[in-house]
This record gives sequence, structure tokens and C-alpha cells, in this order.
Amino acid sequence: MVLEALGSRIAGALRSMSAKTVMDEETLDEALKEIARALLEADVNVKQVSLLRRNIKAAVRWSELPPGANKRRIVQKAVFDELCRMLDPGEPPLSPERQRANVVMFVGLQGNGKTTTCVKVAYYYKRRGYRTCLVCADTFRAGAFDQLRQNAAKVRVPFYGSYESTDAVQVARDGVEMFRQQAMEVIVVDTSGRHKQEAALFEEMAQLEAAVQPDHIVFVMDGSMGQAAYDQALAFRQRVRVGSVILTKMDGHARGGGALSAVAATHAPVVFLGTGEHMDELEAFRVESFVGRLLG
Ligand code: GDP
Repeated sequence: MVLEALGSRIAGALRSMSAKTVMDEETLDEALKEIARALLEADVNVKQVSLLRRNIKAAVRWSELPPGANKRRIVQKAVFDELCRMLDPGEPPLSPERQRANVVMFVGLQGNGKTTTCVKVAYYYKRRGYRTCLVCADTFRAGAFDQLRQNAAKVRVPFYGSYESTDAVQVARDGVEMFRQQAMEVIVVDTSGRHKQEAALFEEMAQLEAAVQPDHIVFVMDGSMGQAAYDQALAFRQRVRVGSVILTKMDGHARGGGALSAVAATHAPVVFLGTGEHMDELEAFRVESFVGRLLG
């Protein structure tokens, strides 16, 4: 991850702030400007950055600080708290209940790592003792069926899909129904990430949501996505009830900002980070430790 770069820039901004002989409100504004620049370069959405800046300023309440106050520490804490608040929309994250069918539908654009993440999440819950299975409702991409089936076999998770059908809704409905009958506890539904037209993709997602009535919808996004992250997350959020976010490829060049953007757009918490191509490379997401890493 390149998160360190953001952390050291923020630390640098705070250092140069406290190195000033006179620390007035202008000094704070300068530091906040530099922090905002660093966040923008880390791919945090523009609107979020200005909101963050305003909130930090309001939290610090510079003019009311007593003369002996450790201003650097106060600003640092305000930055930390504000980033945590942004990453925690206060919504309950994905938390399947035992002894009932939890249908979890995955959405996201092709190439973001959705299929891989479906298998990782199924494997994650399997290892925690849940009866887990996978349904392939991607009838658009030719290789999707085989990819999911092979990976499901690797982690020994039951799989349902249809090689011939082009009716994603019917396949999803049949798969979910079959696994409900088998008393499965976590039913992961993989969906298509591409259609001839984008509108058709979103329409299919809405139809799938209506047909299988998922308990939870997970939006999967490449963590290294730049400023486009916000709009992409928003596009899904506008069509389906996104409940959680998973960021993939966090082992690569992710700069961390995509997480903030995706949460801001969906109002849904990040639940896991994908940290590699292997099926066990999935980390549970903890807001404080992520922001701690972000700030160095
Ligand atoms: P989909 O089109 O969204 O279903 O994406 P896939 O699951 O097919 O993944 C696209 C590529 O990204 C594949 O080569 C995956 O191995 C890779 N990938 C997925 N998640 C991760 C991750 O967390 N880290 C890395 N390094 N690669 C990943």
C-alpha cells in the first residue's frame, strides 16, 4: 500500500505548523490546506476533502484553545477522529446470523475483483463454521461460470450455476432456492460486472435484488481506483441497497482514498480488504487501525 505517503505528508504538515514561532489561525489554515492537498492526491473525493477540512477546523476550535495547549496534538487528533467518522457511517456491517439463510449479493464492475472476493468471503465464513455456498448469477461473461466453479471447488464450497442459461435472474432464484432447501447459512450470489450497455447492467442488478431479496448487498471496488471511485459507488447505490463495501487489491498501489470515497457515496461501511489473489487474502476492516496506518 502507498498509504505511508499520505501519512508522512500529513505528519509533515503538522510538523511545519508547530515549527512556526507564531501559531495563529492562519498557520492552521495552511496546515489544513496541505492536508487537503495530500488527501486529494490520495484519491479522496473533492467534496469529501472540503467537508473534512471544515469539520477539522470546527473540531479544533482554535480561538478557544488555552495558550499552553499542544496544538499539534489537538489538530492531529481532530484529523484522526474526522477520518474515522467518515469511514464509519454508523450502519451495521455484514454480519450473518447462524441457523438461517443469509443471502449476500455482490455487485461491482468487471475487473474490480468481485468474483475472487465472493469466493474469499464464502471461504472466510466457511472457516468460521458457517454452512456456506456460492451462486453464479453472471450469465454475461463467458468465463464467469468456470472461474467461480473452479475457485469454489478449491475451497470446497458448494456451487450453483448454469452453463447455458442467459437468464441471470432465473439462475439466481433457482440457486438461492436450492441452497435454502439445503439449510445453507451464507448464500453468496456473484453477479455480472458488465453488459453491452451500462444501463442494462444496473437494471439487471435491480431485478436480481427484487428476485432474490438479499439480506445484504456488498459493493466490491478496486481500492486503487482514483477520483472515479465516488461516482462508481454512487451509481450502484442509486440502484440497489448497498449495505457494505469491500476494497480489493489493497496489496497493490491503493492510496487509501478510494475507501473514503466509497463509504461517502454509499453510506455503507467497509467490511473487508482484499490483499492478494489467494483465497485467504482477505482482512477484516477496522476503522481505527486503517486510519492509524493512513496517518503513520
Ligand atoms: P471481477 O471481474 O470483478 O469478477 O474480477 P476478478 O475476481 O475476476 O478479478 C480480476 C483480477 O483481479 C484477477 O486477476 C484477480 O486475481 C485479481 N484480484 C482480485 N482481488 C485481488 C486482490 O485483493 N489483490 C490482488 N493483487 N489481485 C486481486
